[in-house]
Amino acid sequence: MVIKEKDVREGRRIFIEGTVQGVGFRPFVYRLASKFSLCGQVANANTGVVLEVEGLPKTLDSFLEELRTKLPPLAKITFLESKKIPPQGLKKFSIALTKGRGGPVRAPLPPDITLCLECALEIKNPKERRYLYPFTNCTDCGPRFTIVKSMPYDREKTSMENFNMCPDCNREYGDIADRRFHAQPIACPICGPQVQMLDREGSEIPGPWTEIVKSALKKGQIIALKGLGGFHLACDAKKTLPIQLLRKRKNRPAKPFAVMAKDLNVAKKYCHINEEESNLLTSPGAPITTLLKRKDVYLPLELAPGLNTLGVMFPYTPLHVLLFEEGLDLLVMTSGNRGGLPLVIDNASAMEELKDFADLFLVHNRDIVNRCDDSVVMPSYRTNDMKLPPLFMRRSRGYVPENIKVPVPETGESIFAAGGEMKNTFCILKGDEAYISQHLGEMDCLEGRNVFEETFKRWRSFIYTSPKTLAYDPHPGYEISRLVLEMPWEEKYPVQHHHAHMAAVMGEHGLEGEVLAAVLDGSGYGSDGNIWGFEILAGDYLDFKRLYHMNYLPLPGGEKAVKEPWRVALALLYLGGGEKYALAKGIKLFGKEEKELKIMLNLIDSSFNTPLASSGGRLFDAVAALMGLCQENTYEGEAAIRLSELTFPLGDNSIEEREALSLYPYKINGDSIDFSSLAVALAEDVLKGKDKKIIALRFHHTLADALTNLLILARDLTGLERIVLGGGVFQNRALLVLCQERLNKAGFKVYYPCRIPANDGGLSLGQALVATWRRWQKDVSSGTGKNFRNK
Ligand code: ZN
Ligand code: ZN
Ligand code: FE
Repeated sequence: MVIKEKDVREGRRIFIEGTVQGVGFRPFVYRLASKFSLCGQVANANTGVVLEVEGLPKTLDSFLEELRTKLPPLAKITFLESKKIPPQGLKKFSIALTKGRGGPVRAPLPPDITLCLECALEIKNPKERRYLYPFTNCTDCGPRFTIVKSMPYDREKTSMENFNMCPDCNREYGDIADRRFHAQPIACPICGPQVQMLDREGSEIPGPWTEIVKSALKKGQIIALKGLGGFHLACDAKKTLPIQLLRKRKNRPAKPFAVMAKDLNVAKKYCHINEEESNLLTSPGAPITTLLKRKDVYLPLELAPGLNTLGVMFPYTPLHVLLFEEGLDLLVMTSGNRGGLPLVIDNASAMEELKDFADLFLVHNRDIVNRCDDSVVMPSYRTNDMKLPPLFMRRSRGYVPENIKVPVPETGESIFAAGGEMKNTFCILKGDEAYISQHLGEMDCLEGRNVFEETFKRWRSFIYTSPKTLAYDPHPGYEISRLVLEMPWEEKYPVQHHHAHMAAVMGEHGLEGEVLAAVLDGSGYGSDGNIWGFEILAGDYLDFKRLYHMNYLPLPGGEKAVKEPWRVALALLYLGGGEKYALAKGIKLFGKEEKELKIMLNLIDSSFNTPLASSGGRLFDAVAALMGLCQENTYEGEAAIRLSELTFPLGDNSIEEREALSLYPYKINGDSIDFSSLAVALAEDVLKGKDKKIIALRFHHTLADALTNLLILARDLTGLERIVLGGGVFQNRALLVLCQERLNKAGFKVYYPCRIPANDGGLSLGQALVATWRRWQKDVSSGTGKNFRNK
């Protein structure tokens, strides 16, 4: 008998990297192998997933083809290698235990995933054994990142390790045909975590938790609720009194509260929602999505004072879903923390830290290992001429720890970038993969820095790397920089704040070579020791040049001028119209006494306690104060947000019509731009009682025009045509749209932050990139002959 070659069984060993653990990948492979009647085995490995299959070559090819193209919804393959091996004559296909511990881990841990439809139906079905069970999950949904202690992702390395599976769960876990096959957090009412209701003293309140919560919320009480990545404070979002109470207790006068809406129907009752927005709300990450409030339906103004928008999210855990089964439809869900401190994650701290805020505590015994705040996304925005994709304000729960591929000159040792002082995230750059941490918040307090250290330690073990190179912000006042500089490093790279913003945007878009950048933010430490924040830069990852900036504005009273924008507005009027003018108009515009205004002008004249700043954030503050929108910032960016909200919607006019809108004057002198004449003209409009929307639009158009003109000058100097926009000011969609329209028209190619926040939450990525390129540049000068500059 002649054996044809094509009939000879062949073996293949296949390595796969990507998001392939904890997403039902092995069962998928198993089913696929069964379909093609292939023998072999599949296992999680430190490097991803490894599988060995044998069968006829043609069948193996078809198997591989389907493996690549018919992945489970949450799985992603970033690398696949297939090698021939001799067949071992196996008789079946099996799922093997995790292999090869200790090697370098590449298989990324998936983010937490919102409750899937099938699980949602199960907990509402009295015939199911998980009826009303708040910790139901499967391979398509449930906690991941927030419960993992170390990798690889197996049950005994999560906070489920102390829960022994009951026989039923065990059977499901081991049954390839079951939706819960190898679902690590599998649980049921018999064997899994349980909810407990506690009063302020910590005594248990007996009875069904959903009813206790419902009656408390109806009474107007505030509940501390343990969720997926931390505690929330919840109250009825349709009643004024509990919201006022929560504001008073949290000492949070105006910062908007996010709400959780029962479902799309409820959300549509209160907000305008298009298809894309509803897709975003119901996506696996389930972020807080900023929506435009409907004007025809009443909601307490206290939810988001002075704003037309509302941050809305949908229930993303079974516990949340069950909460809404009790006749509730809209709840405030704000982070359970003390102002500026980290999110509370454990029961004992909740009882301690939140006792002044909450009347009741809904806790449970599944530990939150990794603190993870809700992500906040601004949905896409469309004008007649262009469309902005959804933009991250905060990238955290549901997205972290996914990495971002970035351009690196070499895949050397990993790098740690510490990020900024506020809205902190850190970044570990490993090869060409940038791992950006969850939102860690403010670093000016010890508690924040403790969380930072703890989180850094855990992430090192998640991705099996101990970076020896540090990137940090050289701001002398940043506590976080002080902290990381005390740690042992082989190399340290200070990265200028706005250079980091620029590099971050370049990195997420995979840009190499030189670009121009417009970076506008509140403040960052400048290379000349001044506060920067309105910067036109040219450069690459290695270095930058400051081409233009806003002329330095005096901030009378320093930090107080940041809190009280009218001080900056007064300074602008003074620069634009002189002392007499500033006093006369200031009295009318700010409702202050002449005496108080004179004190400010004296501070400016004497330079006493009056730092200088080139800052886009302060410019927005000043304009908002001139318009009477906000005399005091009770939260970061309040004035700027109120101002930007006035511009929406931008209108159906074409670019040309919009461009024809008359602009305010400004002056470009040498390398600086002066907006004091703008302030004077704008103040006149305000005093004449002009429509505030028109004033706000004129201001935004003027700023877009000014930036475009500066960038055209910058192009004349450098020949560069690619532009990155970055810094917190570009969270303003109107400004982003208007800038992009004008820049496109002027022939530029424009890039802006999409996958990372424009604010300081994206800083760490830029720092890491600058450091990796600088470390490599040393090799260049030692003679490798590599040359990347596109000169
Ligand atoms: Zn599920
Ligand atoms: Zn069970
Ligand atoms: Fe910044």
